[in-house]
Amino acid sequence: MRLVLLGAPGSGKGTQATRLKDHLQVPHISTGDLLRAEVAAGSALGVQAREIMARGDLVSDDILLGMLEARFARPDTRNGFILDGYPRNLAQAAALDDLLLRLGQPMDAAVKLQVDTELLVDRIAGRAKAEGRADDNPESVRKRLNIYTEQTAPVIEFYRQHGQLTVVDGVGSLDEVFTRIIEAIAPATEIG
Ligand code: ADP
Repeated sequence: MRLVLLGAPGSGKGTQATRLKDHLQVPHISTGDLLRAEVAAGSALGVQAREIMARGDLVSDDILLGMLEARFARPDTRNGFILDGYPRNLAQAAALDDLLLRLGQPMDAAVKLQVDTELLVDRIAGRAKAEGRADDNPESVRKRLNIYTEQTAPVIEFYRQHGQLTVVDGVGSLDEVFTRIIEAIAPATEIG
């Protein structure tokens, strides 16, 4: 099962992906986590990405694509993956489509988690307290929500046009949202 989760910062992609990976037995690939690992390791890429991420800007498309190619080359992606945090703009969506086509592993489904902006801001504020992420400060959050509206929202249309999109209500308990996602991807799971 090759699944991509779409939705604004704070929409719950990461939380649901953690549960979905156990259920579907495929790895969770979060580009935010991959980048944070580079930052923590102090790699050349991490040094470059650190400031960009703290500001809430997007790291370059080239860096992201290289990172993803390396990740897909690992054998644990043989039976699929849950992708979270990518694609964030139309160029990334096209690059991902090309890459998966080359690998002979097209995407099975795209799930968008739908959550109102007001609730997103509350959720991220709560997470900032709990986790202390460097990019969960008010300016960075505002920037990320703007980038989402301007650059990432068109990606939703991309998957809709490809007939792969399902929109899921992201408001409710973790269990409720999880059940909705499982129901939404059931047709794709049966084929795969
Ligand atoms: P959130 O969904 O809460 O914004 P993520 O962990 O997905 O958090 O991403 C954190 C940061 O990592 C982003 O604000 C951005 O700087 C960088 N990043 C993650 N994924 C991408 C991507 N696909 N393209 C560019 N930058 C990215």
